[in-house]
Amino acid sequence: MAEQIELQTLIDRSIRNMGSDINSVVKESAIEMIKQAYKEGIFVQITSGYRSFAEQNKLYAKGRTSSGNIVTNAKGGQSNHNYGLAIDYVLLSADGKKALWTVNEKWRRVAQIGKALGFSWGGDWKSFKDYPHLEMMGSLTLLQLQAGKRPVLVSFLSNKVSAKPIKTKPVHKLLAKGTIKSKTSTSKKSYNLPSGILKVTTPLTKGPQVTAVQKVLSSLYFYPDKGAKNNGIDGYYGPKTADSVKRFQLMNGLVADGVYGPKTKNKMELLQKK
Ligand SMILES: [Zn+2]
Repeated sequence: MAEQIELQTLIDRSIRNMGSDINSVVKESAIEMIKQAYKEGIFVQITSGYRSFAEQNKLYAKGRTSSGNIVTNAKGGQSNHNYGLAIDYVLLSADGKKALWTVNEKWRRVAQIGKALGFSWGGDWKSFKDYPHLEMMGSLTLLQLQAGKRPVLVSFLSNKVSAKPIKTKPVHKLLAKGTIKSKTSTSKKSYNLPSGILKVTTPLTKGPQVTAVQKVLSSLYFYPDKGAKNNGIDGYYGPKTADSVKRFQLMNGLVADGVYGPKTKNKMELLQKK
């Protein structure tokens, strides 16, 4: 029986394929996705990440002015790959020797892991489905990217910010497309969010008002402590809860101070209603 491919090999190949100009948050999230999938016996490799305008134009020529099939509708500057914000993946056989392009349950599982890490998936697109494609646009549009703006991406793994904040009107595209499961959101619960201020105090503030905030944060994938018991929903406004509030604020154009107040409340309610 052929030997199973090593996790590190998948990661090394993927890092090479993503290119050096890939956004650092996109990169580390992709690596995390590979790791999580590997644990489930799914072997993922990133086939493409950053593409220069010239590389994109060469790809665009395929099936048009050069031989082969058409593989993209985007010219240089028209693809999110040109800004280091998108990756493409493929599944591999257990020995790592064969690429498996069938969009099956495992393929969808990888997309699901990616989405939990903050990616939007091309398989969710309405008009044209791009199953290998994952991207993080940080609520910016392609037009804004073309105009020179760059998103502030917040890693769902740590709290790293990839670039200096830029002034742009925050929209909720990323949340809507990337992290909220739109198909299952029909039975969305609404939580009674507290008025007033919540912050880390000594002793810690605790109670149902904190639990309500933690539940909303978790429903929007800003878990106080992902993987911990009940994802860290414990009714205490401690450093971890403050941290998830901070991540939420960063992603939504608010002052990221980890203090829950009226503005944070409004934004949470807005997103809950969707
Ligand atoms: Zn792509």
